[in-house]
Amino acid sequence: MDLVVRGGTVVTATSTYQADIGIEGDRIVSIGRSLSAPIVLDATDKYVLPGAIDPHVHMELSLGDITSSDTFATGSIAAACGGVTTLIDFAQSRRGRSLLDTLAERRGLAGSQVAVDYALHVAVLDATPATLAEIPQVIALGCPTFKLYMAYADSWLDDGQLLAVLRAIGEAGGSALVHCENHHVIQELTTRYRAQRKLEPRFHPLTRPALMEGEATARLIDLAQLADCPVTIAHVSCRESLRAIQEAQRRGQRVRGETCPQYLGLTEQEYLRPGFQGAKFVMSPPLRTRADQEALWGALTRGELHWVATDHCPFLYHGQKTRGLEDFSLIPGGVPGVETRLALLHQWGVGKGKLSLTQWVALCCANPARHLGLANKGDIAVGLDADLVVFDPRRRVTLQARQLHQHVDYTPYEGLEVTGYPQHVLSRGEPIVEDGEFVGQAGRGKFVMRKMRG
Ligand code: MN
Ligand code: MN
Repeated sequence: MDLVVRGGTVVTATSTYQADIGIEGDRIVSIGRSLSAPIVLDATDKYVLPGAIDPHVHMELSLGDITSSDTFATGSIAAACGGVTTLIDFAQSRRGRSLLDTLAERRGLAGSQVAVDYALHVAVLDATPATLAEIPQVIALGCPTFKLYMAYADSWLDDGQLLAVLRAIGEAGGSALVHCENHHVIQELTTRYRAQRKLEPRFHPLTRPALMEGEATARLIDLAQLADCPVTIAHVSCRESLRAIQEAQRRGQRVRGETCPQYLGLTEQEYLRPGFQGAKFVMSPPLRTRADQEALWGALTRGELHWVATDHCPFLYHGQKTRGLEDFSLIPGGVPGVETRLALLHQWGVGKGKLSLTQWVALCCANPARHLGLANKGDIAVGLDADLVVFDPRRRVTLQARQLHQHVDYTPYEGLEVTGYPQHVLSRGEPIVEDGEFVGQAGRGKFVMRKMRG
């Protein structure tokens, strides 16, 4: 053995126990008592978790003339400092472009920069015969999950296209992750508010009502049933969406749900902040109500929602968000979060008695691995990748943009004090974070081939 993580409380999605973890090369080779090795990492009074997985992030996402502010290097270093050892980003370009070319290009951009392991979902933006024919080839390259959009001018698919794409994905043995909102309704409402000169950030959520997120979710689920394709509803924010998911699950359909920390801990009140401050919270779907938050927490504990991702998509407040100073519809949508999820879910979930330790690990580590085809990640067991987080449940940290590693000039959680924070992180046996600081190298991360389980 090369290294032992000694004396910690091991927490997995199924159990909590005292043990040492022995590592050789990049794998876990032993779990037991009194293990020894040349290098010992002391985890006394700490939790030892599987490396967290963030299955929904957008590093250097290009939206025409504006690009999300984290590169694969800065974003993955921030992820590591937050206890994340695997990211799933998106290969996405434009309608008419080959999925295979898009995937190769994205791997080229990410590969030389990522500090942790990564995988890619592939966005399908049209339903041409050429695109549908590439779906099985993309799956063979280790990307069995496809992102589909029901909103955004450059990416939405109509119902016929959704049906065709879902059918092709289902037949090829893949699954879809879908952004469910109603494109045409958003456009009509946006036009209406602009015509009335209602241009401040607080009008953003009014153009994207929960009612229509629920409508799109239900419509997508019905199309997926017709197409016989397993689907995950991305970033579920509201009760309307949740109801559609619950109903489908009751009738036995393969429908999963994802939510994000921002929907669990923030509300639409943020849009009423003075001046332009509400722009920091402009994202889609928008923040909702306290009642929606409570419903989302309940669904997480009952297993109706399967994981918590971040939808990390940072834009600088000064210079990027401010593009929409005169018109909320020009504010680039998205919030940073890849670095803060594990600590926030510990604080709000475990700390407030909403989640057990094992549920916390299931939602941040094990479930994304299991449901998205990361066979060697998300658990602590002999033979798996030695991706581990030593988490100090007593460490107090006040979240501040200037202390986080994300390349963005604000955090939605500025000033929030959390008790419990990642201390050390190992990625395939290699220490990449020590005492909260990144000690690894950009570019060391590997592309992970994924395969869906039956
Ligand atoms: Mn989305
Ligand atoms: Mn997204």
